[in-house]
Amino acid sequence: MHNPGHRFQAQDRLADGAQYIGGRLVEGTSGRTHAVVDPATGEEVYTYELASTADVDAAVAAARAAFPGWAATTPGERSDALHRFAAVLAERAEEFAQAESLQCGKPLKLTREFDVPGTIDNTAFFAGAARHLQGQSAGEYSGDHTSYVRREPIGVVGSIAPWNYPLQMAAWKILPAIAAGNTIVLKPAELTPLTSLLFAEAATHAGIPDGVINIVTGLGKEAGEHLVGHPDVAMTSFTGSTAVGKRVAEIATSTVKRLHLELGGKAPFLVFDDADLEAAVQGAVAGSLINTGQDCTAATRAYVQRPLYDAFVERTAALMASVRVGDPFAPGTDLGPMVSHAQRDRVAGFVDRARGYARVVTGGEAPQGDLKSGAYYAPTLVADAAQDSEIVQAEIFGPVLVVLPFDTDDEGIALANDTPYGLAASAWSRDVYRANRATREIKAGCVWVNDHIPIISEMPHGGYKASGFGKDMSAYSFEEYTQVKHVMFDNTAVARKDWHRTVFGDRP
Ligand code: NAD
Repeated sequence: MHNPGHRFQAQDRLADGAQYIGGRLVEGTSGRTHAVVDPATGEEVYTYELASTADVDAAVAAARAAFPGWAATTPGERSDALHRFAAVLAERAEEFAQAESLQCGKPLKLTREFDVPGTIDNTAFFAGAARHLQGQSAGEYSGDHTSYVRREPIGVVGSIAPWNYPLQMAAWKILPAIAAGNTIVLKPAELTPLTSLLFAEAATHAGIPDGVINIVTGLGKEAGEHLVGHPDVAMTSFTGSTAVGKRVAEIATSTVKRLHLELGGKAPFLVFDDADLEAAVQGAVAGSLINTGQDCTAATRAYVQRPLYDAFVERTAALMASVRVGDPFAPGTDLGPMVSHAQRDRVAGFVDRARGYARVVTGGEAPQGDLKSGAYYAPTLVADAAQDSEIVQAEIFGPVLVVLPFDTDDEGIALANDTPYGLAASAWSRDVYRANRATREIKAGCVWVNDHIPIISEMPHGGYKASGFGKDMSAYSFEEYTQVKHVMFDNTAVARKDWHRTVFGDRP
């Protein structure tokens, strides 16, 4: 079924190991190996030694040693390095696309047209943004002093990334951190380290100094917790589930670190009765199935106003059933497998439990035949579930859309807000007042109108509520990766200053 000759050969390409420390690939030293599995076939494609806590220490030491030199570069120098980095990524785009498809099961058209170009664009964006780091104020606010604000890097950043968009998540963490003059140690998910390693290697090739970007590939409980608690790490930036985020927050807080959390989502998709139904149906299928639904902003809960409800359910189910599930490397495939068999089984568990209280309109099963050995799951639409049921409330992270009816606009907006999450949402209407009201009242870090999913480097991405805090991408991310210092100069040049009388003596 596959043509291995056209695939990224991980074991050869990353033969030196899955740790990137001080500008080179090295083996882990934990004594325990881990395998990256092609989820389309279940075959092991890369075996590596996991990072030990000593490897994390070595990576942090490399980042710490690189920090003073990197922090002292000018914004123009960092910008030049990032422009060269973007050029190297563009030259290697096909290799990145193949490696990402191999380890995640993403169809090549998604990695070629979304993951990889998005990452190159992000790199180019931060090359420009590096020159626009600004303090907001400068002036004589007291009359007797000149004040200004310096915006400074924080130091060594420790980042932890999930498996759903390994390349983009590595880029979102690394780029703003280093553009602002920090150095970084990133721990990718142990399932999907390949493109983070290639990304760090490409940075070295582009001339970014050794130690500025380091990758440790280890287990969350071991390498992850050690990185978060490390005394020489000044900031933790975590993207992953809300449950693990809480644990990361405890450790980061107990070691008094700057913390940035990008957590789970359960995005509502709110269709008012004046919406363009065809646009909403197309948008619901694309928005819920992107990356096999393993997307923290994916449309997961469609609320459809009663007059459109039946037609929406019928047309969405028909369109979902027409999506071509198959080998990620085969031309014409729309939807690949999920990242792992374990994740597929977890998703199937949610749908199987929902059969007891809801209706599975289409999907709800693993394809058989040629696809039997892969981690595939059919596009699934579930209707008639109660708002407080598990399938409506919990993050499923698979190709599953739940659809519920609503009557009044007030009710629709209240239902959209009725989960602990607040990462993203969309509102579908031709009435600007209705749509605008939804954008104001939905509690989420991003609200699309008449679309769902597109992201751009210039705009911030981040959560409200249990979806976390802080922003990735855009100039807003510099708020996470810099600290501001107030500098105050006395302008009077007198020994006895007027304000001293409030402490001792009288007016001079
Ligand atoms: P996860 O929380 O299981 O793992 C994320 C990372 O944390 C991995 O690298 C893992 O090894 C590490 N980890 C696990 N336990 C740890 C611990 N005790 N200490 C430190 N690190 C630990 O998440 P996942 O299953 O890899 O990814 C899916 C989740 O990520 C979903 O909840 C999704 O919504 C979320 N996500 C959020 C965003 C966002 O921008 N908000 C983006 C992508 C994914």
